[in-house]
Amino acid sequence: MTDTNMLDDIFTRIVNNTEVFRDREVLRHDYLPESLPHRQEQIGQLGETIAPVLKGARPSNILIYGKTGTGKTAVTKFVLAHLESKAKELGARVRFCYVNCRMIGSDYRVFASLCQTLGLSVPFTGLSVGEVFDRFRTSLESSRIVLIIILDEADVLVKDRGDGLLYELTRVNETLSNSKVSLIGISNDLRLKEFLDPRVLSSLSEEEMVFRPYDAGELKNILAERAGLAFQQGALSEPALSLCSALAAAEHGDARRALDLLRVAGEVAERAGTGSVAEDQVREAEKHIERNRIVEALKNLTLHSKLVMLSVYHLNKSAVYRAVTGDICEVYNEVCGEAGLAALTQRRVSSLVNELDAMGLLSAKIVSMGRYGRTKKIRLEIARTVVKDVLESDIRLGRLIDYTPKCLTSHVRGTG
Ligand code: ADP
Ligand code: MG
Repeated sequence: MTDTNMLDDIFTRIVNNTEVFRDREVLRHDYLPESLPHRQEQIGQLGETIAPVLKGARPSNILIYGKTGTGKTAVTKFVLAHLESKAKELGARVRFCYVNCRMIGSDYRVFASLCQTLGLSVPFTGLSVGEVFDRFRTSLESSRIVLIIILDEADVLVKDRGDGLLYELTRVNETLSNSKVSLIGISNDLRLKEFLDPRVLSSLSEEEMVFRPYDAGELKNILAERAGLAFQQGALSEPALSLCSALAAAEHGDARRALDLLRVAGEVAERAGTGSVAEDQVREAEKHIERNRIVEALKNLTLHSKLVMLSVYHLNKSAVYRAVTGDICEVYNEVCGEAGLAALTQRRVSSLVNELDAMGLLSAKIVSMGRYGRTKKIRLEIARTVVKDVLESDIRLGRLIDYTPKCLTSHVRGTG
C-alpha cells in the first residue's frame, strides 16, 4: 500500500467513524453545561451575593476556594451569564470582566483587559502600568457603572507577582464616587490567604465560598449528563462510566480529570474500532493520560535535571536499580563532560534529585545500612522507555542516550 493510500484509508475510517462520539466538544474543559449537578448551593450563594448589583448596589467582594476541577470556574461563569442577561433585561448599569490570571501573565495586561471592558483600547506596550491603571480609573469613574471583576486562578498571580494588583483593586473604590468595583477572586490553592497582606485579605474576603471535592457518586452524575450529549446512544457502557468516576474521585474529586478519562477512553475505542467504550478502554485511557503527564513533566525539566534523569537512566540500564547519590554524580559528571557542559556540585545534584522525587519521576528513600549509618537510595519511578523517548528528542541530549558511560563498564557493580 502506498503512503497516499494508507492516509486515504485512515481519513475515510475516521470520517466515517461516528459510532463512538456524537459531539466530542461537550467533553472539553471550557464547555459550559446548561446545568451543574451538585452545585446548587454554590450557585445560590453566589447569585444572592451579587444580585444587589441589579439594583445598582455594589456587591460584596467574594473569595472562592477549591481544588482544581471542583467547578469554581463553571459555577462563576454560569451565574454571571444569567446575571448578565437579567441585567440587560432590567437595564442595570453593570459590566463584567473575566480575567484568567494564569493566561494573562502581567499586571499591565490585566489592566489593559479591564480597560477593554470599558471600551478603551490600550496599546500592547509603551505605557507604564501606572498610566494604564489611571486610564482605567478615569474611564470607570465617567462610566457610572458597577464593574464586577473576576480574577480566576488568582493564586497564580499572587505567587508570581505578589498581591500589589489585588491591593490596588481593593482600594480603588475609595477614589471613585460615580462608579464601583466588586471583586470575585478564585483560587485553586487553599493556602492563598497565607500569601495575602491582611488588609487585602479582609477586603477581598467580605464573603467566602469553599468548593469541596466531588465524590464518586457526584462525579458519576456529572459525567452521565455530559456523556449523554457527547456519546452516541449505547456507545458508553455503565461500568466504564462508573470506573471514570471512581478513578477521578480517588485522585481528588476532580471533574476535569473525569472528563479527560471519558474523552480519551472514547478516542481509544474509536482508534481501536471497537465502537463502544468499556472498562478496558478507560484503563487504557488512564495509562495514556499518565504517560502524557510524565512526558510533559520530563520535557519541561531544566537541562541539569534532565542530565540527572539521564544518569539514572544509564544506571538503571546497567541494572543498578537503586543508586546512591555518589553513583549518580559519577555518571552525571561523565555525561556532562561528553556534552561539554560544566557539572554542578554533588550538593546541587542531590537537591535536584529531591525535586525529581517530589515530582514522582524518581524516588529517593533513606535506608538504614546497619552500623554503617544511613544512606539515600534512588530509583527510577517511571518506565525507562519514556525517559529514552523524551530525552532522545532533546537536541542537546539525544546522542547521550546511546552513549554508554565508561564508569558503568569499567567495574562490576552490585545490583542493589
Ligand atoms: P475549577 O475551576 O474548579 O478547576 P471547572 O469549573 O473548570 O473547575 O470544572 C472542570 C470541568 O468540569 C469543566 O469542564 C466543568 O464544566 C465540569 N464541571 C465541574 N463541575 C461540574 C458540575 N457540577 N456539573 C457539570 N460539569 C461540571
Ligand atoms: Mg478554574
